[in-house]
Formats: sequence, structure tokens, C-alpha cells
Amino acid sequence: MDVKFNEFYFENEIHSANDYWQLYNKDPKAAIKKYDGHVFCPICESAPLTIVKGNKRRYFKVSHSDMEKHSEDCSFRNNPATKKETTYFYKDLDTTDIESRLLSCLNKMLKKELTTADKESSSVSTRKNYTNNFLDIVINNRKKYLPNKYLYSENLYKDSDIQTIYYGKCALYIISPNNTNDTNNTNDTNNTNDTNDTNDTNDINDTNDTNDTNDINDINDTNDTNNTNDINNKNNQKYYYLKVLNSYTKKEICEISITKNIYGYLSSDLENIPNKKDEAIDYYICFSGFLKKKQRQYKGNNYDFHQCNLRDSRLLILEKA
Ligand SMILES: [Zn+2]
Repeated sequence: MDVKFNEFYFENEIHSANDYWQLYNKDPKAAIKKYDGHVFCPICESAPLTIVKGNKRRYFKVSHSDMEKHSEDCSFRNNPATKKETTYFYKDLDTTDIESRLLSCLNKMLKKELTTADKESSSVSTRKNYTNNFLDIVINNRKKYLPNKYLYSENLYKDSDIQTIYYGKCALYIISPNNTNDTNNTNDTNNTNDTNDTNDTNDINDTNDTNDTNDINDINDTNDTNNTNDINNKNNQKYYYLKVLNSYTKKEICEISITKNIYGYLSSDLENIPNKKDEAIDYYICFSGFLKKKQRQYKGNNYDFHQCNLRDSRLLILEKA
């Protein structure tokens, strides 16, 4: 089966396949003239992509005869890891070197060198030469690549039961639990220790559960929804919500929920992010997790959104654009 690409490399940038189809729908000739023959593998930028324009099925692929044109170390020479393999890989983060993989993804895919790093990762981020195999994993002596998606992909919310690496240049703002009135602050302070402890335990359980069964996921989702029932009613809010917006339209792509505990590890990165939507600023962001569909009440209305529960501070990398 052909591996379908939802993003492509064109003139020094990653584009979503959607960029192509939008133009193609308006003016097929213009799209073909601009892109066909000039689009390449989003990782190695070497293997040409073939654009399949069927009536029902349209997608980007590398045709078999072009597979050898991937760079030797390109992860996309291999097949994608299955859900089971991906779950297995993420089981023990200490052995996965995940932070340097995300950093490579950010630099490689978003064309940006990380110049400063206040975190433990500083030794990694000074590395200048990024290879093309940062998504490789080896399962039973076979190389596979980790599921990954550009945050502007049209199928972004599909396959949300597989842990995925998401990356893109997006506008960010953050809602913190401290953005509340004095009365609420007092409550929070009294409960701080208890609340944190509870969070930690829950998070660990969540992680395990996610790996094990879907049913338990659903129960957790319900709990989460209750916890975050009204974003303005922050009495019980235990999480920071990092809002990830389309950098052009400022429409919300997803939010990342971050416990106070995990926020502590990331505070040097996150504390400079604005707290208001209309002040959101562009960042290069790369994170790994599940984008789950959720519902929240706001001023009496329900609205749907997509949320990633950040499980570990090493699973989020960002840099101001
Ligand atoms: Zn390639």
C-alpha cells in the first residue's frame, strides 16, 4: 500500500497537502504549473512526490521507482510504526531519546536552528547537523518510523488513538491556573499540595490506561471534561492550557493541557507566552501525544475542541519564531 503524504517540501518550506488542493480546486493548471515536479519528501527533500489526482482518491506519494531517491538515512524509506509498535516505543521514555528527536523534528522540518536552550537538553540542541532518521525506531530488527503530522494537515485529527509527533509554526497563548481572582487564589493555595499530588497520580494512571484500553480512555475523557468544564470558572483548574492557533487565521488548532508539576520543568519556555488570545505570538512547536476530541462549556454553550494531555515535559519543544 502506498504511504500517503499529508505534507510536502516545496521551496525551502513544509506545506500541507491542503495548500495544493486549495489551489488545484480553483485553478488546476496553476497548481500543476507551480507545484508538479517541484514537490519532495518532507524529511529528506530528495525523493520526488507524485501527486495522484483521482476523482475519489487524491494524495501525495513516492512512487516505487523513486523510493531509492530518498536520502540513505531518510525515515520515510521505511513503513510507519503501527499503533502497537508506537505504544511500545513510548512506554519507557528514558530509553527513547525523545527530546532530541523532537528537537531534530523542529529544526529539520521547520527549518530552524535552536540557538538557546535553558533546559537539560542544551547538549543536544547545540548539535548542528541534523540527520534524516530522527523518526526511526527499530522493532524486531525492522526499521519503522514514528507517526508524525504537520499541524496544518487536513487529516490532523484522524487516527487520534496513535501517539503522534505534531509539529508546526503556530501562534501560542497560555491560560494559567493563576489567572483568577483573589478568592480563588486563596482556595488554590490551601489545596496546592493535595491537588498536585492527586494530579501526579492521575497522570501516571492516565498514561498507563491510554496504553492499555480504549474504554478506560473514555472514562478519563469524561473526567477531564468535568475538570475543565468552564475555562472561566477556574476555581478547580489544575492545568495550564497552551493554546495552539493557526498562525494566519488565529483559529484554534488544539490545546495542550499541562499539569502544574510538568509546567515547572517547562516554565523557562512557557512563562514568556502571552496569556491572551489577541496577543498570541508565533512559535515553532513540536510535541508528542494524542489529540483527543473534547467538549467544554463556555457561557452556557458547548463547543468541541481537541486536546493533548502532556504526559512528560520531554514531550514538548518550542522556540519563538
Ligand atoms: Zn525522504
